[in-house]
Amino acid sequence: MNLEKQVEQFKSLQETLSAYHIAGSLINWDMSTGGSKKGMGYRAKAIGIFTMKAFEIQTSDEMKTCLDVIGSRLEDVDEVIKRMYVLHKKEYDKNMKIPKDEARAYAELQAKSQIIWEEAKEAQDYSMFKDILGEIIEYQKKFVNYRGFEGHPYNPLLDDYEEGMTVEILDEYFENLKKHIVPLLKEITATELPYNTSFLTNSFPVDKQKEFCIKLMGDLGFDYDAGEVKESVHPFTNGLNVNDVRLTVRYFENLMTSSVFSAAHEGGHAIYEQNIDPKFEFTGLDTGVSSGIHESQSRTYENIICRSKAFWNYYYPTLKTFFPDELSEVTVEDFYAGINKVENSFIRVEADELTYSLHIIIRYEIEKAIMSGEVTVDNLPTLWNEKVKEYLDLDVPNDELGVLQDVHWSFGLFGYFPTYSIGSAYASQFAYYLKEAVNFDEDLEKGNYENVNNWLKEHIHQYGSLKTPEQLMIEATGKRFDSKYYVEYLTNKYKSLYNL
Ligand SMILES: [Zn+2]
Repeated sequence: MNLEKQVEQFKSLQETLSAYHIAGSLINWDMSTGGSKKGMGYRAKAIGIFTMKAFEIQTSDEMKTCLDVIGSRLEDVDEVIKRMYVLHKKEYDKNMKIPKDEARAYAELQAKSQIIWEEAKEAQDYSMFKDILGEIIEYQKKFVNYRGFEGHPYNPLLDDYEEGMTVEILDEYFENLKKHIVPLLKEITATELPYNTSFLTNSFPVDKQKEFCIKLMGDLGFDYDAGEVKESVHPFTNGLNVNDVRLTVRYFENLMTSSVFSAAHEGGHAIYEQNIDPKFEFTGLDTGVSSGIHESQSRTYENIICRSKAFWNYYYPTLKTFFPDELSEVTVEDFYAGINKVENSFIRVEADELTYSLHIIIRYEIEKAIMSGEVTVDNLPTLWNEKVKEYLDLDVPNDELGVLQDVHWSFGLFGYFPTYSIGSAYASQFAYYLKEAVNFDEDLEKGNYENVNNWLKEHIHQYGSLKTPEQLMIEATGKRFDSKYYVEYLTNKYKSLYNL
């Protein structure tokens, strides 16, 4: 079989897949940012058709021939084709191992489950959600067995969102984190912050917040000629193409800093997508490589840059020009303390930088126990509440603030949560070496983000999905992923803020 011909065919299949992906993403963007309410049904149907068409291509005989031929001649193709091969082969094998009728039944279950979750959450009643969650879990367990795995049955699910991630790596990571953060948190909660942080819940006009966030993202490096910003209930970033990256922010009148950091966060995701080398267009490699690496970039902008003292030493006067009255009594020290204040809370998405990973540990340990069969759906709320007590020292008052708070399980997203925490840990490791290469604090004190952006672009962004998360980490930092950087970053930052 002619290799060149198969490579051309392979590229052409990918181009069609990319086109379907763009179409589906555009419809989704439209649905989330103001498309008519009554039009939800027809749009969802169109997305369903595009998804089905893409699935047909991914599992087609043409794809199989491409994979067979290219797979037997990997030494003769370039690095882009090789990487495309690895990713498609993985997807193909996964899809072929799951019986089609079961995959369809599962998709129908997912579609129903989200509404049931919403109703249960609103009623604060886990028992309404329990049965369908149990069905979803049974499918996940079956699929994992069809797919086959090494080590823990949770491993293939972790690998779906973070290539190469395993229970073995995460157990060590989370244990080390727990060992250091739980006692540090106890010390912190026994201490009073010597700053006035009451401004956090004051009223800040939403139109001014918007103007500020637009300016902030532009200054950080978001290119408005290659993207756009809208509003939605759940902020997200949609990278259609390096020249067309869309993101949303949400604004709360009484939580100005929450709006600002959601903008910095999504801005980080978007800058990553805009900095990918345009040569990857329509190869499927023109997007961030994994959820963990993507999250590491959003957290770099949100936390490493925008929650630092050096950043606000320069940028705080700018913020004050937007809110001269609201911030007239607030010093930059108060502001910095306010945006980094540690508080044990029930809700993951509202958690501060320090307690955030404890929320993820709870979900990680529970998902692991679900996959190994150590916990049943009946016992989930009890287990959840016990862990919240143990790590965050809180008594969960109801399921809405407990086991029902996140949407993920309702569409079978098991294995995803850990990437949120890994992202922060990756960010700390990258930042350690970034700070060795550039004058980080000095640059931020001058409002100069160019050196930081260039380092991130050179070591991470430009590659899109060409390199695996592990390759990126080793090539950028010279080391494999190591939790010590994150522990060190959190310990130094919070000991200094709380004078411990
Ligand atoms: Zn994110």
